[in-house]
Amino acid sequence: MNATDDPSSAQLQAKVDAARSRGCSVCNADTCGHEILFSIAMGLGHQPQCVSCLARGMGRPRRQLRDHLRDHFRHRDCYGEVWRRENEREGFAGDSLPQCLWSAAEMSHGVDPHCASETITEPSDELAVIGQVADVWDAGEMACGDLVLALRTRMNALPPGARLKLTARDQGAVEDIPAWSRMTGHALLAQRHPHYWIQRKE
Ligand SMILES: [Zn+2]
Ligand SMILES: [Zn+2]
Repeated sequence: MNATDDPSSAQLQAKVDAARSRGCSVCNADTCGHEILFSIAMGLGHQPQCVSCLARGMGRPRRQLRDHLRDHFRHRDCYGEVWRRENEREGFAGDSLPQCLWSAAEMSHGVDPHCASETITEPSDELAVIGQVADVWDAGEMACGDLVLALRTRMNALPPGARLKLTARDQGAVEDIPAWSRMTGHALLAQRHPHYWIQRKE
């Protein structure tokens, strides 16, 4: 599909463009389009951050967060399309790892294998284990950056360990919700699209 035909990637591009000149909302460093796109995927499109501040805020190593987000974008047309356009804008080949965020040494050695030391809670098929939910939210057709932005606000309003049942009908949620949960550290207890049960991190 051509980017101009895809409303979700056009909306995403508009969000990146709107945040382009703002700089990192934490350290004021310049942020490139890739970093703004990372921020949007983490639910922080309204206050974009450089990748270092983003990683610090999530308590994750910078390279790990960066590589996870890049992997996630490979599975999502809307993000992938904008990623390629930002590559071109910054003068990098469409599908390459852009040198604004990857060093030449990293590229010649390939990207680190990641996740090895990470404990990941795999979603369960057994809904009985979920127990009580503290909040129920139907996000309707919300997609891409809007969904995770609103989800972040919902999760932050919950006490640690509390659970949210989310209904998200956009097909992209199948990829976005597990990736977002993994990167933010919230536990995705179960997933039966369009329903997702997420437990706030302690
Ligand atoms: Zn920063
Ligand atoms: Zn960049």
